[in-house]
Formats: sequence, C-alpha cells, structure tokens
Amino acid sequence: MELNKLTIEQAGEGIRKKDFSSVELVSACRDAIARRDGTIHAYLEVFDDALTEARARDKEIAAYGGDARRAMPPLFGIPIAIKDNILIQGKLCTAGSRMLADYTASYDATVIARLKKQGAIFLGRTNMDEFAMGSSTENSAFGPTKNPHDPGRVPGGSSGGSAAAVAADMCLGALGSDTGGSIRQPAAFCGIVGMKPTYGGVSRHGVIPMAASLYQIGPMARTVADTEILFHAIAGQDPHDAVSMEITNHNPPAGGHTTSAGLKGVRVGLPREYFGTGLSPAVEQAIRSAIKVMEDAGAVVREISLPHASLALPTYYIVVPSEVSADLARFDGIRYGGIRNKELGIRNLYDIYAQTRAAGFGPEVKRRIMLGVYALSAGYYDAYYVKAQKVRTLIKEDFENAFEDVDVIAGPTTPTPAFRIGERRSNPLEMYLADIYTVAVNLAGLPALSLPAGFTEQEGSRLPVGLHLIAPRRADQRLFDIARAVEALLLAR
Ligand code: GLN
Repeated sequence: MELNKLTIEQAGEGIRKKDFSSVELVSACRDAIARRDGTIHAYLEVFDDALTEARARDKEIAAYGGDARRAMPPLFGIPIAIKDNILIQGKLCTAGSRMLADYTASYDATVIARLKKQGAIFLGRTNMDEFAMGSSTENSAFGPTKNPHDPGRVPGGSSGGSAAAVAADMCLGALGSDTGGSIRQPAAFCGIVGMKPTYGGVSRHGVIPMAASLYQIGPMARTVADTEILFHAIAGQDPHDAVSMEITNHNPPAGGHTTSAGLKGVRVGLPREYFGTGLSPAVEQAIRSAIKVMEDAGAVVREISLPHASLALPTYYIVVPSEVSADLARFDGIRYGGIRNKELGIRNLYDIYAQTRAAGFGPEVKRRIMLGVYALSAGYYDAYYVKAQKVRTLIKEDFENAFEDVDVIAGPTTPTPAFRIGERRSNPLEMYLADIYTVAVNLAGLPALSLPAGFTEQEGSRLPVGLHLIAPRRADQRLFDIARAVEALLLAR
C-alpha cells in the first residue's frame, strides 16, 4: 500500500486503528517528494521537522486506549502542504516574492493554529504566483511549478504548488487562497477538489494579503470529503479577522436532499453566459456529460441567466489592483523587504521605497500597483473604482436572483484545460481569461468548489476538467453535500 496515495479519511482511520503510524505516512509523502518534486517543483521548502512532529503524534497515539483513539480529530497525524502566503511561526514565508525572500513568520496564522490544534503535520511551503497574482504559478520569483499530468503545462495558479502537490500524491491535502479563482482553477487544471468558502467563513489573520475584500483561505484535496474535513478544521469566527463569522446555518437545499437521497429534486442552474464563446468544446463536452449524470440521478437542471457575467472580469481587474495598491504599500523596504541594496546608491527615504519596490516586485505585481494607483487617483476614482463597485453590486444581485429558483449553479471552472508553460506569459489579458468563470464568485462573496469531471485529450496529453459548483452565501455545507453526491455519481459512471 502506498500510504501517500490514501485519502485523508482513509489515512485518519488507519492512524486511529494503528494500522500504520504518522511517521510512515509522512515518510511516504517525503519519498514521493524526493521522487517527483525535482520535476514538478510544487514545494519551495520541505520541512525537516515534519518527521519529528509525526514521531510526537505517534507517541501520543500510543499512550491512548482504543476509545480515546477513535475520538481523535480527523487530521491527527495527517501530512498537509501550506501555500506560502500563510504564516507558520518560525518558518520562512515568501508569498512567492523576492520582496519577502528572507522573511520569517513570527506567529501562526489562525488557520495554522487551528490545524496544529487538530494535530495536523505540515510537510512544507508550496509555490505560488507572486503575492497570489496569476493563474499559472509562472509569476513566482522562485521558478514555475509543473502540472503533474503533463510537465510541459502549467498547474494553474496562484495556488499551483498546493494543487500539484496534492495531485502528485506529495501530500494528502493542502491549503490555498482564492481571490479570483486561485484555489478552484489550479484544482481544475490538476484534477483535484478545491473549495473557496463564503467570504468571512475562514479567518485570514496571518495571511499575506492581496485584495482584502475578495480573498479566502480554503482546502484542496483529492476528494470532496477530504476538503470538507479540512474546511471544518479551519472555518469559524476569529476575533483577529473582523469580517470572519461562524457559518452555522447549514442551508440545506430547498429543492431536495443530498446525502440520503442523492441529487433527487436538487435544482441546478446552468448560466447560459458560462457556455458561450471562449469555452473550449472539449471542456464543454465533459461538463455537459457530468451534468447529464446529475440529471439522470434526479437533479432538476435548467438554464438560467447571470446578465452581468461579462462584466465580472473587467470589474475584478479594477477592484483588485485598487486594493493591491493599498495592501502592498507596507512593502516599503523598512518594515519588510530589508534594505539589501546599499550598492544601489540609496541616498534618502524615497530611494529606499523606489529601489526596494523596483527590485523586490515582479512585473505582474508592478502592473497591478500602477493600475490600482491610477484607478484610485483624483479624477479617475469615480470613473473606475466607484463604477466598478456599482457593477460589483449588480453581479451580486444576479446571483441572488438566480438563487431564488435554484439550489446550486453549475458550469465549467475554466474555459480551457491546462495551457502550456510560457504560452500566456507575455499576454496578461489571456492569462486573466483563465479566471473568467471564477472571479464573479469572489466579487459576490459566495462559496464555490471545483471537482474533477473527467479528462480531455489535448495534443497527446490527458488533461483534467473541473466542474464548478456555486452556492448561496453561507450555504457551504450544501455545497459539500451536493459535491459529494456528484463526485460519487461521476466515479460510478
Ligand atoms: N488569477 C487571478 C488573479 O491573478 C486570481 C488570483 C487569486 O485568486 N489569488 O488575480
């Protein structure tokens, strides 16, 4: 048995029954990393203390009797990977940027503290687009990550390292962050499950911010049930994040049940705007066939409309750069980023800012800061930022109207399967299009999930396709229930 290939559910059970130890589990993952990560480069760092931690867990388990063991948290002794914008005390945390290349976290993010409390083990830090800006992980200052299904292709981004680590069995699950699709899009490209919680459902305390009104931390794993386990471990109100809240209302679907009755009566809306130009025929075919499976199982599928869907991407790319220009102002060479550039001839305070930011940020980050400063500047503020906020409200209302008639919205996560490394690097607009179906969800603050919906043949490669499910605000549990039922049906076909 290859332990690194187990689901979190299976591994947890094995540990609790003492079929194998946490040390064996962690070692299996580390062996997989040694074998595969030279090619894939999912990890920026593999933590040596993971084995020490595992040994400590095993000792604890040995001290328990059977009943106490059975009652242990589901993540006890389970090795997971962490996107490198989430602080783990005492570890480097770079956000994929030269700016933070030697920054060591002085405290644990709330999500990390919660995982530690459950007894989870951190295998290492995963690669990402710089400050989570990108859709391919090529914007990392530390080199790109490769897609485990085809190393000539990108794993998606910005949580590409986490997605690739899960897909290549180099961990059992991972955390990512999603501002416009960064959990769901790489999950789709790598053939795994990725979930973006309701805005506020998970604390962002101790996460290096990108665009504060949009991003969420969320789980990535090989099955829906595993993402659910991770979600419940990290979710909930936190006094350190003012927008965080308890998602206590489970919001079961009004149209039907899911866990006991499968999808019978669940009302599924297909936005006509998500099946138009730009959608690759191969992806559309895979999605339509997955939806047919849902329909055959009793789901009530109907076409719906999100009339402002085409405005989501332009709105996102006003709101995000505006927030980025403010959120990244702290990287000034004094508080962060160190004054490494004596040889650059720094003479005064302005030089420190300018030289540090010129040397520390990559091109995409600079592009966004400049766009944001422009959109927020006097004379343009109303025309761009205020207008974008108004359109954001219309987008939110589109979803609210749609959810009066359906329990869940379904469509493709991405318009194409994983593209080739280098293919879109020089064309930001094409890169942005990778998130055309995912950004509206962040603008509206909704929970959404991508799950594997089959494969498409692309020039000799077999590439995964992701099915995107979107639920109303705070209906995160409904999303998991429906996704679990869909996953079971798709696996059984
Ligand atoms: N690709 C999108 C962007 O570049 C989304 C990034 C994210 O969700 N962090 O903004």
